[in-house]
Amino acid sequence: MEPLIIVLLILTLYGISFYFKKRIVPKIKGAFGEYKVSSKLKRLNKNDYIILNNLLLKKGYSTTQIDHIVISKRGIFVIETKNYKGWIHGHENSEYWTQTIYKYKTRLRNPIKQNWVHVFALKKILSEYQYIKYYPIVVFAGNGKLKNVTTSLPVIYTRELLRTIKKTNNPEYLSHHQMRLIADKLTQHNVTNRKESRNHVKKIKTNVRERQKKENLKICPKCGNNLIIRKGKYGKFYGCQTFPKCKYTLNIY
Ligand SMILES: [Zn+2]
Repeated sequence: MEPLIIVLLILTLYGISFYFKKRIVPKIKGAFGEYKVSSKLKRLNKNDYIILNNLLLKKGYSTTQIDHIVISKRGIFVIETKNYKGWIHGHENSEYWTQTIYKYKTRLRNPIKQNWVHVFALKKILSEYQYIKYYPIVVFAGNGKLKNVTTSLPVIYTRELLRTIKKTNNPEYLSHHQMRLIADKLTQHNVTNRKESRNHVKKIKTNVRERQKKENLKICPKCGNNLIIRKGKYGKFYGCQTFPKCKYTLNIY
């Protein structure tokens, strides 16, 4: 064989194994951890807890993925699952945590911080339920040992999960009906697959483009009538011809 072909072959194999290690293996590990946790959660009483697994929520142009949500009468548990080996070290406020296997150290994103992002996304979607309490929980579902994790929030092993959920002693203030409504609302916001989420982004972009096109032609994007120059308190601007029926306005640049 030509030396060049051999080099190319080696590079290709190297690329494939790199991709497998970086992309495929973490996905399989992650899915396994999530499976372990969701089968644990199934044991919770269906009348008292509603469980939603693997939610992909729209967040403006992007999406955020939440491993598990448990809606209870006392509030909402937001669970982030990690599947790691080795020893885990980390602090509640630091950006990264470390995983040590023998003397090899790798870093991981602070899962508590990751989980706060999920809580904020939920708060935004459930903004009409201002009084709801959120309980973020990080679960280590692999063989990893939590060695030096300093936090005021629960960072636990899978076997402690149900106990942690049940021992929360905030008063019960949500009815089963309200829990159902919350679950329905979150399910409505769930983007069931990645393709749909890409389409969602595409659609928003097309809408913006179409609006700009109409604005350039001085056509009201809202109702299709003409935009005409109007004078207001703060100077001239474009307004819809049919005002006050349509209140669309556009700045003059
Ligand atoms: Zn209009």
